[in-house]
Amino acid sequence: MTHNKTLKQIAIVGGGLSGVSTAYFLARAGYEVSVLERRANVAEEATFGNSGLLAPCAVQPLVLPGIIKSAFSNLLHNEPPILVKSGFSPRSLRWARKSQRAVEDSFASNKQNLTRLSAYGQMLTHHLQEHYALEQENSVGLLHLFRQQADAARCASIQDELQQFELPRKQIDPKEIVRIEPAFQSPTPLVDAMYYPRDSAGNCVLFVKQLRAIAQSIGVQFHFSETVTALRPELGGRVAIELGEQSLTVDGVVLAAGIQNQALLKPLGVTLPLCAVQSYNAMAPIKNLDEAPNTVLFDETYKVAIARVGNRIRVSGLLGFVPATEQPHPKAIASLLKVANDFYPNAANFNTANFWASTVALQPNGMPLVGATTHGNIYLNTAHGAHGWAAAVGSAKLLADAISGREPEIDSTGLLTTQAGA
Ligand SMILES: Cc1cc2nc3c(=O)[nH]c(=O)nc-3n(C[C@H](O)[C@H](O)[C@H](O)COP(=O)(O)OP(=O)(O)OC[C@H]3O[C@@H](n4cnc5c(N)ncnc54)[C@H](O)[C@@H]3O)c2cc1C
Repeated sequence: MTHNKTLKQIAIVGGGLSGVSTAYFLARAGYEVSVLERRANVAEEATFGNSGLLAPCAVQPLVLPGIIKSAFSNLLHNEPPILVKSGFSPRSLRWARKSQRAVEDSFASNKQNLTRLSAYGQMLTHHLQEHYALEQENSVGLLHLFRQQADAARCASIQDELQQFELPRKQIDPKEIVRIEPAFQSPTPLVDAMYYPRDSAGNCVLFVKQLRAIAQSIGVQFHFSETVTALRPELGGRVAIELGEQSLTVDGVVLAAGIQNQALLKPLGVTLPLCAVQSYNAMAPIKNLDEAPNTVLFDETYKVAIARVGNRIRVSGLLGFVPATEQPHPKAIASLLKVANDFYPNAANFNTANFWASTVALQPNGMPLVGATTHGNIYLNTAHGAHGWAAAVGSAKLLADAISGREPEIDSTGLLTTQAGA
């Protein structure tokens, strides 16, 4: 990506994790930054549901091998690991086929790239939390649990390539999990388990709200209840942003609007390979402190994480190829409850939890979409899928460095695009 020296004012569309962290790093790099957000505050969409994993070891490109077969068989299942309402649309089916191919072609290299990005994002996040003395609700250590042999084998097959990251990881006998997490007394059958002592989790919404305040203190302007309706590239590389009746013109735009990036770029002839997938979240107050986990748990089959957040337990994840709604589909609620009750049945009254759903944007290869588009000064920071926190913060810094012509602090191979949508 080449540095455009005339770029001074940058507008960011979207006030979620991706937008706010990009705004912070661009302001730090000396740009005049404004964030345009259609909601009344930051972190009100996908970021609100974030399970809070900062997990370079557990992170994986969110590819779904066997998705088509399992999705159709899940139609009859009351607590399915993947939700499909009434079959895939032709577009989703094409996306699912590409996702299956990505598992065969590029899973190992993408996993390595994502691990590097997430380790970087985790380090940046912890640094920001310490530097600004941010309030945190972090917990350290993650149990990665496998119900199915194929999932365990896929992860095991790339263990050697992951040695380069020097991140501690330990295979454990599922019967020994209780030694690491005394609250884990589950009889649920598991074929394998891994423990990652340096993976962590925290409260992503709290982080984003505090980062917004810091960004504001260094000059970022936040404009809420502003919906961007169109982008118009102008001569000289500037971009006009339509906000209903009004418009403003800036030197550059970063799109961090989740799945809405697609609609904003389509009229410019840029097609993004994204699929809108629903993901789900349940939050319940802890009932029995002794039976509530301190270690984060990630169930590979259901893609569900269970973590303690202060005095509450959050159960979140799961993927739904269903129409977007804020009220989760009853089967999604059933699946979240199943995972919670499988592992920590007495930690909280999960039946009375607050349930919530949001849309995440996913590429078929499960990798983030970050960097320049074919339209000069329009950039993207999006598609962080289910590993948004560490990946979005790492991507925000990589993007800010690329825009300002600085050397990236990590190897950015496979992490930045130069012509998204081409
Ligand atoms: C249930 C759930 C669990 C998850 N678990 C994890 C996890 O454990 N770990 C993890 O790292 N990630 C997780 N994720 C994913 C993570 O939350 C996302 O990848 C990340 O938060 C995405 O941030 P974002 O800023 O890209 O998107 P969003 O938070 O969705 O932000 C996009 C923003 O753009 C705004 N917007 C959209 N269109 C417009 C427009 N036209 N004009 C103005 N504003 C607009 C929206 O209002 C929104 O605020 C989870 C997601 C969900 C839903």
